[in-house]
Amino acid sequence: MKIILASQNKGKIKEFKELLNMEVYAYTDFIPSFFIEENGNSFKQNAFIKVRAVTKALKSGACFEDDMLILADDSGISIKDLANEPNIYSARYAGINASDKQNNEKVIKKLKEKNLKSSEAFYTVCLAFIYKTKEFSVHGKMHGKVCNKMQGSNGFGYDSIFIPKGYNKTLGELSPNIKRQLSHRAKALKLLSILLESFE
Ligand code: IMP
Repeated sequence: MKIILASQNKGKIKEFKELLNMEVYAYTDFIPSFFIEENGNSFKQNAFIKVRAVTKALKSGACFEDDMLILADDSGISIKDLANEPNIYSARYAGINASDKQNNEKVIKKLKEKNLKSSEAFYTVCLAFIYKTKEFSVHGKMHGKVCNKMQGSNGFGYDSIFIPKGYNKTLGELSPNIKRQLSHRAKALKLLSILLESFE
């Protein structure tokens, strides 16, 4: 079985490759990248929009193989004191094409406006996948808090302001190995592995 990721996010592709002990490819290894409008209103809806679009494109590009499992994820962070923002808008919180730094700066600015040093927060991921024409999904979460200062450069996205529960350093400062044990993506992938075993 080959896992084909319906994503172009280099940080995520790297994490999936490290977490899955299987053959993992980006869909762009088979077909050119194309724009997918993520206009769902939940992580699950957006993950299914992506996985269905990539499956269809692989099929119409005659690149689809029977042993391909097409996998999409949609993820983001929800910050309690910011009314659960940015949630499904995490990648574009500071605007379309915003950098990770700009998104982090927007969170920090909003915390400071509320005179907060930190706020409870959690990451969510939904993994949606299509295997042999059937559709499945699983979720994973990681709880902790965001702080009002960027620290460390490991990881991606909001990792330099996110402190996982039970730690006093950001994911930007903690080793990638620790993130691999705690992350929302790792938890969802464990559920995915259980499902995959049941297919064999
Ligand atoms: P997606 O590509 O639409 O799923 O956007 C996910 C966005 O959520 C990313 O661009 C990051 O900003 C954020 N995000 C999701 N997972 C993580 C993570 O593990 N660390 C840091 N940020 C994350």
